[in-house]
Amino acid sequence: MPEQKKIQKIIAPREKHWVGDGFHVSTIFSMHSEDVDSISPFLLMDHAAPRYFPPTQQKLGVGEHPHRGFETVTFAIKGEVEHRDSGGGGGTITTGGIQWMTAGSGVVHDEFHSREFSEKGGDFEMIQLWVNLPSKFKMTPPRYQSFAEADFPVHRLENPGITVKVIAGSFESVTSPVQTFSPINIYEINGPSQSQLEFPLPVGSNTLVFQLSGNSTLGNQTIDKGNLAILGRSGDSLNLELNEESKVMILNGEPLGEPVAAYGPFVMNTRQEDS
Ligand code: MN
Repeated sequence: MPEQKKIQKIIAPREKHWVGDGFHVSTIFSMHSEDVDSISPFLLMDHAAPRYFPPTQQKLGVGEHPHRGFETVTFAIKGEVEHRDSGGGGGTITTGGIQWMTAGSGVVHDEFHSREFSEKGGDFEMIQLWVNLPSKFKMTPPRYQSFAEADFPVHRLENPGITVKVIAGSFESVTSPVQTFSPINIYEINGPSQSQLEFPLPVGSNTLVFQLSGNSTLGNQTIDKGNLAILGRSGDSLNLELNEESKVMILNGEPLGEPVAAYGPFVMNTRQEDS
């Protein structure tokens, strides 16, 4: 018999703050406010809820800044993000696409709305997720993986109308093209009102459920739009009822079980390694 995973905690979005002048974000969870063991290997997630930006010739975003010791994963849900780094790399994350950047030993990069998006204006929504690197890979050379919407396999569940976009890891017979340094599954689920899904997740893994739109019920608790549920490690099955038409992001991963020393844009295992 599958044992259902249960909610340990529900977090409502915090007050928004600006990252540069392009990203009006709410920090949904972070290693500074949560028990690291309950979110590992994830460290932080910022959500820029949908917001209209009028057409402009200005470059909106955040200028050069460094990262080391972890990965940043940027999801362009609406609109486009352009980036450029110290190693001469760069590109555009298009709507529905992601960039999985391994900072590893260190990068300096900037992140802006794409020129094309800025000139046209429109609704902008994004997520940036920080994923920790296992200790032995913290100083790995920097790497980019860029994917467009069409690169991700989508699994259609028998239950009418529910789709699972496999952003990382695998779901049943489909596997994401993303390479990760530790076992991670990330799914974007879209489904109609009054639909249900049930699927297996690895025993002992951490699971976070972020409700991007609509609302859902897990056990006897409701996860409202913009809220995040942190699930307990026990159980091997996720059962979710969508009460309204919903978009839900599922983050699942094997906990690293290593100390986290986060200082500004660096995330190492001890403070001595931060500098
Ligand atoms: Mn950055």
